[in-house]
Amino acid sequence: MLFKRNNNKNALKTMLTTLGPLSFLLFSSCINKAPIREVTFDQHHIETAGFSEAQFQLIEKTFLQLKLLAPHDLQINKQTYKRLSRFESLFGFPFDGNRLSDWVIRRIKTLSYGNTWTVAVNQNQGIFMIGDQFFTQLTDLERLYLLIHEARHSDQNGFKHIKCPKGFLFVSAGQPEMDLEYTMACDSAKDGAYAFQAAFLFELFAYGLFDQREVGLLYNSSVSRIIQ
Ligand SMILES: [Zn+2]
Repeated sequence: MLFKRNNNKNALKTMLTTLGPLSFLLFSSCINKAPIREVTFDQHHIETAGFSEAQFQLIEKTFLQLKLLAPHDLQINKQTYKRLSRFESLFGFPFDGNRLSDWVIRRIKTLSYGNTWTVAVNQNQGIFMIGDQFFTQLTDLERLYLLIHEARHSDQNGFKHIKCPKGFLFVSAGQPEMDLEYTMACDSAKDGAYAFQAAFLFELFAYGLFDQREVGLLYNSSVSRIIQ
């Protein structure tokens, strides 16, 4: 699971958001000859259920945004990038939106609408359930890293979270009302859902995709969940 975040001030640096919904449709038809719904879900035999048309369009937009991510010029010190980038070692391929989208899709079996205690859950096995918060309270950036986080829960034993320890010093950047001490919102694994989420955010930070300041803070918040 991943906790929600209440912040709508993020400004995408991509053309998609700058140009609005129309550009999304145009990009969509340029990238795939078939509609993205067919390419993304039907061809991979992913069952979807319970979403309204508007919700489904937002899911499709999220996958399209993921596909369009690409590294450009580094916006941080090259040595720092080499030292901290974990994307390729974790995901098994260099940072690339198309491959990343496929990586997520392969980890989804069913995608259904349902409100649980958190924004989205994946009880291992690729059974994704997404609730109202995903559509109404998350920024584009948050929807993207949430997909990465949840997809990792499909691997192996699901990489279940552990309780953050007594005296945990960090706060939840996304859910400030929550006290993380003793909350199941940390990882002991260095290759669990928070590690994958952090590795993804680091690439966005390094290449200046999205708002770099916000991405950097979210990266720090994510790595703080990995208990050494
Ligand atoms: Zn989780």
